[in-house]
Amino acid sequence: MAQTLTTCTFCGVGCGLYLESSDGRVVGAYPSLSHPANSGRLCVRGWHVHEVCSSPDRLRSPLLRRNGTLEEVGWDEALGFVADKLMRIRARDGPDALAFLNSPRCANEESYLLQKLARAAIGTNNVDHGSGVYCHNSINVLLETLGLPATTNSISDLANSEVIVVDGVDLARRLPVIAGAVLRAKLSGAKLIVIGSRYHRIARSADLFLQVLPGTEAMLYGALAKAIVDRGLMNHSFIHKHCRDYESFLAHIRLYDVFEAAESCGVSPDLIEEAAQVYAGARCAAVLYSTGIESRTRDSIRAIVNLALLTGNLGKRGAGIFALTEHNNLQGVCDMGVLPDRLPGYRPVGDARARAEVEALWKTTIPSSPGFGARSMLTDRGDGSLKALWLCRCDPFSTAFFGDPANSLRHFELIVVQHLFMTGTAEYAHVVLPTTSFGEERVSFTSTERRIQLAERAVAPPPGPLPAWEQLVRVARLLGADWSYRSSAEVMDEIGAVVPFYSGVNYRNLGSHYGRQWPCTKEQPLGTSLLFGNHNGNHAFRFAAVAKPTIIPPPPEFPLILVFGQSLYYWNQSVLIQHSETLRREHRILLLDYPQGFVEINPADAQALGIHDGQKVRLVSPDAAAVSTARVTDEVRRGTVCVPYFVREVERQILGSVAGGAALVWIRLEKEAA
Ligand code: SF4
Repeated sequence: MAQTLTTCTFCGVGCGLYLESSDGRVVGAYPSLSHPANSGRLCVRGWHVHEVCSSPDRLRSPLLRRNGTLEEVGWDEALGFVADKLMRIRARDGPDALAFLNSPRCANEESYLLQKLARAAIGTNNVDHGSGVYCHNSINVLLETLGLPATTNSISDLANSEVIVVDGVDLARRLPVIAGAVLRAKLSGAKLIVIGSRYHRIARSADLFLQVLPGTEAMLYGALAKAIVDRGLMNHSFIHKHCRDYESFLAHIRLYDVFEAAESCGVSPDLIEEAAQVYAGARCAAVLYSTGIESRTRDSIRAIVNLALLTGNLGKRGAGIFALTEHNNLQGVCDMGVLPDRLPGYRPVGDARARAEVEALWKTTIPSSPGFGARSMLTDRGDGSLKALWLCRCDPFSTAFFGDPANSLRHFELIVVQHLFMTGTAEYAHVVLPTTSFGEERVSFTSTERRIQLAERAVAPPPGPLPAWEQLVRVARLLGADWSYRSSAEVMDEIGAVVPFYSGVNYRNLGSHYGRQWPCTKEQPLGTSLLFGNHNGNHAFRFAAVAKPTIIPPPPEFPLILVFGQSLYYWNQSVLIQHSETLRREHRILLLDYPQGFVEINPADAQALGIHDGQKVRLVSPDAAAVSTARVTDEVRRGTVCVPYFVREVERQILGSVAGGAALVWIRLEKEAA
């Protein structure tokens, strides 16, 4: 047995683990006791991560579609076909007829090269990752208010928090190691405030649970700010030293009325007052929310930031904003510029000076208009203008939470899929390129605490697959690009030159001290565990003006709110899970009682409607209807019905082609005749 210290690549926590290998195969995984993110803990996915790479289902050869059938071919033929087809489409329809989508699981190196291939070799900003609009909302709000879009403190720093606010995210199921850190902090005396409509495991441990009506979060945060202002609990010295636009923020907050907000949000005014006092009274308070797929608006995120600025909960231990990334490299993928409107390092594509900086390094020109995002690529194919789609480790057929990807996919002239496995999306591909797996390649990932870590190579890859970054290099060369990278380490060296807050990063320093937390610069090569810890009172932060929302009450004939969200374990749809025997079994056990999927109803609502668990129910919206099975559970709030994202049929029938995480729909429930 050989042991290789590496990082788990399932979720954004970035736990340290050892891969055990024997006879050229990865055969086991166990946690690193000393890793700062997980201190000897792993969740069920980490314990079984090795099963994915040693799966017998792995693709071994490139596949090329001929006469409607995918056939095994050699690498030269597959990559030559791809390059030729890309050039022909670009020559005929222009560079914006091509689009590039990756997964938030892609490594930094392949993400960087994918967007460089699109922008520098093809000439389009049609680049995005598949994590959805809420992630982009979080990035844009944190950039506009704080200047950097990331979690401010380390996971281990939660041990220093006096108050922890968990907003929306079901930590115990989605980021269990962080849930453990929150619960240990509570056991050590921290107060735990949970905001959200779902009564999940962390909510059951909360000191204060503000079970808000979905869609009213911005109103609730405004009411909390109003209660803090009314009681004079603001941190004046922090505000005057570090913040701008306080007066315009105050002008909006003065319009709030705590009693009116309490009624709109469905939370008692006393609870709002108490939560405001607990949060503002703490010496250090942290707020945790997910940047994943949720029906949340930019204003609700702005309101979270406002609360932290109002109370000075930034730039110190135990405080801060934890913008949690659920996928293992969502932070890194965004840092690398896999965004339709931002270049590496979050430079806006429309900013000529920012563009010129990257153009000078790449020695080429970059288009100035933002490209199409993932939603447009997968719903209307960029208003019908897209002809080719490149998908790196991405399987929208199985996981996209909007629209009907299959309908879009079948209309592309060229689909290139890079993946470990034959996915639902790959069935529509013209070319499938098998990639090496975690444990077989040396690449880097950036976790939710900005920790850039090397995923080390434990075994040699099987014959056939190539690293995804190498495939991108070979295609770029065939397109005429002067790309001379010989290793992923050289790609990282270029990333260090292009992304300012990675300028001190290289494979030598990533190989020690469990990686580096960015900003890791030449001046600060050890990185930074505390973002904004050294800001110097230059009014770097901006309050956001959030207009008081108008909450529309439900029409009497549709009294329930339909919420599309997470239930069970969020990773149910992951293609990687389907290729791990243990995790697939766990997943199936969870669905034994409801093999066709389910919608969740609060027991009080179920009783009022005469609906029992397991019964067929009809969901009727003003425009559509769908049938599913009732799962009666107190996890959902009274007055709401939750449809898990993986129950696609209900979502499609109710929302049709506009299906997506941002929608809230009013419905009524009826018993379906047997
Ligand atoms: Fe892996 Fe995330 Fe589980 Fe840690 S919490 S073991 S990173 S899936």
